[in-house]
Amino acid sequence: MKYLSLLCCLLGSCLALPAQQSSLPELPAWIDQDYPYLESLYLHLHTHPELSFYEFETAKRIAEELRSVGYTVSAPFGGSTGLVGVLENGEGPTVLVRADLDALPVAEETGLPYASRVTTTDEAGNTVPVMHACGHDVHMSVLVGTARALAAQRDQWSGRLVLIGQPAEERSGGAKAMLKEGLYEKFPRPDYALALHVNEQLPAGSVGYCSGFAMANVDMVDITVYGRGGHGAAPHLTIDPVVLAARLILDLQTIVSRELDPLAPAVVTVGAIHGGAKGNVIPDQVELQLTLRSYSDELRNGIIEKIERIGNGLAASAGLSEQEYPKVVVRDEYTPALYNDPKLTERIAGVFAGALGKEQVVTVDPRMVGEDFGRFGRTDPRVPIFLYWLGSVDPAKKAEAERNGQTLPALHSSRYAPLPEPTIKTGVLTMSAAVLHLLQNPGK
Ligand SMILES: [Zn+2]
Ligand SMILES: [Zn+2]
Repeated sequence: MKYLSLLCCLLGSCLALPAQQSSLPELPAWIDQDYPYLESLYLHLHTHPELSFYEFETAKRIAEELRSVGYTVSAPFGGSTGLVGVLENGEGPTVLVRADLDALPVAEETGLPYASRVTTTDEAGNTVPVMHACGHDVHMSVLVGTARALAAQRDQWSGRLVLIGQPAEERSGGAKAMLKEGLYEKFPRPDYALALHVNEQLPAGSVGYCSGFAMANVDMVDITVYGRGGHGAAPHLTIDPVVLAARLILDLQTIVSRELDPLAPAVVTVGAIHGGAKGNVIPDQVELQLTLRSYSDELRNGIIEKIERIGNGLAASAGLSEQEYPKVVVRDEYTPALYNDPKLTERIAGVFAGALGKEQVVTVDPRMVGEDFGRFGRTDPRVPIFLYWLGSVDPAKKAEAERNGQTLPALHSSRYAPLPEPTIKTGVLTMSAAVLHLLQNPGK
């Protein structure tokens, strides 16, 4: 999951869910039996993390895992490290499950005996540490566990399973690359697409979900504020871009506070400002870097237009010509909002309640973070998608943190340490039960 907002408010209340009986009462026992295999896979993945777009060994291992239980694997697909595993099993719906493969340039400080000690060279030539600080190693272990459970019990369902290992979720671009290469044309087009993400607040053994918009549109925007530089002692002979940039930063705060509906969440953050080199020189330009968050496309486009309008107005008021108005560049690595199909969400939440018990299934608030899984639903025609949160915190550590008024390590933190066994088992149980429900109840 891309860059976290710590302001996220997580837990809602337990919903009164219509619990659906798990289609396979023997599933939990099967998962218990398979767990040692999955734990060794998890430990391997955790100790061998790789950065976005460089998940070569990770992809190789996941492809081997899927092949070994009967999936037809195409790799690489969607860049050099993506992979698609298909299990054909007669007539019926097609369900896609996605796991992301990449880790982060973070030095692990969990103190765990299996903590990552991996370093690598990044694209800039720097030596950087690598850690699965966003829990994608859990996601892959759950994907493989689900693949094994459903392959072993294929006499219980018919249809098609499409399991994908997606590269570069953290940098965005992996989902886009897979779709661009023809994921929905070269492989069976899914009737439903599912994914999960570990959660650093929910206790292991539980899951959380949110219907409708669950994660935000993420845009990175660069603004160049132009001026006319000169001597710092003669400001009257210049148009100072430092002053203009300062005014612009403050004026941009009025987009959310004064121009948008207070009930429509949005974020405009100026995270970086660079300009000038010396106190007595007025530079020609100043660079700003922003991140924008929103849910609807309309709001997203509106925010970008307002940034341009405010920038142009400021430049004009300072006496700059139209050619000198700020240049606003919306970067390509846009991540669209993730929208959980409400009907699908309701169905699967009922399956979860049946599999785990209602008290282990909670609603959570949407977050302003981004997740490129949303792209798998935004095709034409749209595919109903659902991403849920998988609790991963040791309940004892959560209780201790609450007693001491401490906050638990966030995702992307060097101290984020999911509790493997209940987390992975719960992930495999919920994902397998969800897929089985969709395969066994087509067209509901
Ligand atoms: Zn993530
Ligand atoms: Zn992340």
